[in-house]
Amino acid sequence: MKIFVVNTGSSSLKYQLIDMEGEKVVSKGLVERIGAEGSSMTYNNNGGKKQVVERLMENHADAMKLVFEVLTDKETGVIKDVSEIDAVGHRVVHAGEKYNGSVLINEDVVKALDECSFFAPLHNPPNIKGIRACQEVLPDIPMVGVFDTAFHQTMPDYAYMYALPYELYEKYGIRRYGFHGTSHRYVSAVAMELLGKKNSKIITCHLGNGASVAAISNGVSIDTSMGHTPTGGLIMGTRCGDVDPALIPILENIEHLSSKQIDDVMNKKSGMLGVSGISNDFRDLEDAFHHGNMRAKLALEMFDYRLKKFIGAYIVALGGLDALVFTAGIGENDYETRYEACKNMEFLGLYLDVEKNKSTKGELAEISLPESKVKVYVIPTNEELMIARDTKCIVKEMEKKSEEVVVE
Ligand code: ADP
Repeated sequence: MKIFVVNTGSSSLKYQLIDMEGEKVVSKGLVERIGAEGSSMTYNNNGGKKQVVERLMENHADAMKLVFEVLTDKETGVIKDVSEIDAVGHRVVHAGEKYNGSVLINEDVVKALDECSFFAPLHNPPNIKGIRACQEVLPDIPMVGVFDTAFHQTMPDYAYMYALPYELYEKYGIRRYGFHGTSHRYVSAVAMELLGKKNSKIITCHLGNGASVAAISNGVSIDTSMGHTPTGGLIMGTRCGDVDPALIPILENIEHLSSKQIDDVMNKKSGMLGVSGISNDFRDLEDAFHHGNMRAKLALEMFDYRLKKFIGAYIVALGGLDALVFTAGIGENDYETRYEACKNMEFLGLYLDVEKNKSTKGELAEISLPESKVKVYVIPTNEELMIARDTKCIVKEMEKKSEEVVVE
């Protein structure tokens, strides 16, 4: 079974074609600058050399057509015909309270996701464009929506509600939703396998340019650091994370900023970039810190401290901890951040294997000492695979149901 996994942004389209037999990536690529000058596609087939195609693409439909041209190219393609694709899995950011799991896409689902554009105006509309573009090229192939918010729908109300007037929740659905759900779900499932039990208390730290922590009890998310939007929680590359909400009207007054400008400041000019004044990238910041830059040092210390506060809060929320998991760009690669997060945690029975931590970069590893009661894992995330697995599962269920109907 071959599954095409798509993740569309406002001007980009990422895809993977995965052969579910062996869960092998047959082709992966990225189309960038859709609708602008210099649009191009970068891809590789069967793990081969990176290829680039430059072509003007006015919209997502053009981009999707190019992807399928490349996939079916007579000489260099990986499939003979689009009919070899059995199903498509779409990453969709926001499903509000509508879906707590992945679903087969039909017109009702697209309508519901369109309604959720209110929550994620930058993400859901391009996700829907991706669905439409795929439907044009693959009109008869089942498509599944996999949502970033779905995994966190299990949070109890006292964890997801904000202490604002209740009517705002009733009228507009203002509450914590949480994001990176597919990643938290994937790495926590791997951690449960490593622990050898589902009955477990796990904290997953997805630390990339966007970053969030989740508390997972027996495989279920009970709290997460991002909020109504992905701006909340941890300090991130360019996002501020949690700040005193009363700062917003203060900024309006003293800097004479509109709400759009404040949104820009908080999402694009804050975080590690805003504090350090140098970069949002941890490699640059650590380099600057090791060369004596005090603002880079401050930004890194602030990040580590905020992360530690969330880990502490979630240990209490979970009532203990079996495993602490690090994933995404920083979590998988940056041993200094992992070291700081695990420092002085021996009172909890958490003993980091300092050497193992230092030598682990981008691969699955247990980085705690054998005697550590709390296991610490680095688990590379794989959202595409999770999307493909969900898609396969839903399509198989659908086939089973239609067979049952025929038998009846
Ligand atoms: P995104 O949220 O954009 O998907 P990623 O998960 O790819 O982000 O993480 C990107 C970030 O990971 C970079 O901005 C950088 O801070 C960090 N990063 C990547 N590689 C390394 C590395 N080798 N050492 C330290 N940090 C790294």
